[in-house]
Amino acid sequence: MAEDSRGDPACGGMDGRQDPVPSSGGFNFPEYELPELNTHAFHVAAFGELWRGRLRGEGDLSLKEPPAPALPGAGGVTDSGSEDAAVARDLGCSLETAAELRAVCGLDKLKCLEEGEDPEVIPENTDLVTLGVRRRLLKHREETLTIDRACRQETFAYEMESHAIGKKPENSADMIEEGELILSHKEHKPYQTMLVLGSQKLTELRDSICCVSDLQIGGEFSNTPDQAPENISKDLYKSAFFYFEGTFYNDKRYPECRDLSRTIIEWSESHDRGYGKFQTAKMEDFTFNDLYIKVGFPYLYCHQGDCEHVVVITDIRLVHHDDCLDKTLYPLLIKKHWLWTRKCFVCKMFTARWVTNNDSFAPQDPCFFCDVCFRMLHYDAEGNKLGEFLAYPYVDPGTFN
Ligand SMILES: [Zn+2]
Ligand SMILES: [Zn+2]
Repeated sequence: MAEDSRGDPACGGMDGRQDPVPSSGGFNFPEYELPELNTHAFHVAAFGELWRGRLRGEGDLSLKEPPAPALPGAGGVTDSGSEDAAVARDLGCSLETAAELRAVCGLDKLKCLEEGEDPEVIPENTDLVTLGVRRRLLKHREETLTIDRACRQETFAYEMESHAIGKKPENSADMIEEGELILSHKEHKPYQTMLVLGSQKLTELRDSICCVSDLQIGGEFSNTPDQAPENISKDLYKSAFFYFEGTFYNDKRYPECRDLSRTIIEWSESHDRGYGKFQTAKMEDFTFNDLYIKVGFPYLYCHQGDCEHVVVITDIRLVHHDDCLDKTLYPLLIKKHWLWTRKCFVCKMFTARWVTNNDSFAPQDPCFFCDVCFRMLHYDAEGNKLGEFLAYPYVDPGTFN
């Protein structure tokens, strides 16, 4: 907790519990407190208001596609004669030169494939070095399993980044409103980057954070392996909090939620530890617009009692027409660190689902198995337990890839 609770004399009384309307001396824009590290605390909605005040509502904030500029040769928007004249005037060349330029630099010259040709197929009769290199690389990948994984990672990263770019909602009611803020939210464990809207509640981000500890299954199940999946931690332990600027935002949506921040607050108040006074609030009552935050500052998300994630807001900006405009897709995951999966010790192929201790059949302790190998090795055809071992369901962090 220490790093999240740093006293901050420089930011005066700006402690996240003030009136959203800025008082004199307050900050409503991201001014960097430590250069290139984090800004002073500022009010998110007031920052959006500043932007909207500076920009023209029509045009600047519009989420409509801007009209495509008329490109030479792009579908005959203008006739080629007047195009040539314009080019000749701009470049100070003759009409003939302009016509020649159009012929050799036209958009259609960028196409290198004939109708029906597959861009994945490398032509045999090419002397391009780049294509030769690509052909060798593809051949190498075909022959090597590990390289194939590298290829999967590239595809994965590409798909994650591009799957929602410029996406429009099917239902116009789901369209993001003009002037909405987008916060980039980085989380370190698992490493992922998400975009969240200013108008979204903290609980919406909480629900979208996928952590392996939510899916852990508590208990030893060697006698009753079929009962294991019913005890997922997420359903059993629903408490969680975010910590931003002196306030713990506790998830209190369910009656069984506990105030996880209480022990921390009691600890800080039991002696004068110099952390000042912490506040608590309900996570479900606050949107990101309501917050005072520092861009770049490490805050905290805590769930499952002690699973802590450092969260950093790295950027706040207005929504743009190139963004994903379907608000139902936010918080939007845009980057994720690839995690290797732990494979079954027996088949070396499938992701581990079980981990055993004191296992008379296993060469190592602990030992990991996929579901099929685990059952084949440890139970007879009637499902009776063979030998001595302790078995725990295992959820691999890599299964979220
Ligand atoms: Zn976690
Ligand atoms: Zn296996």
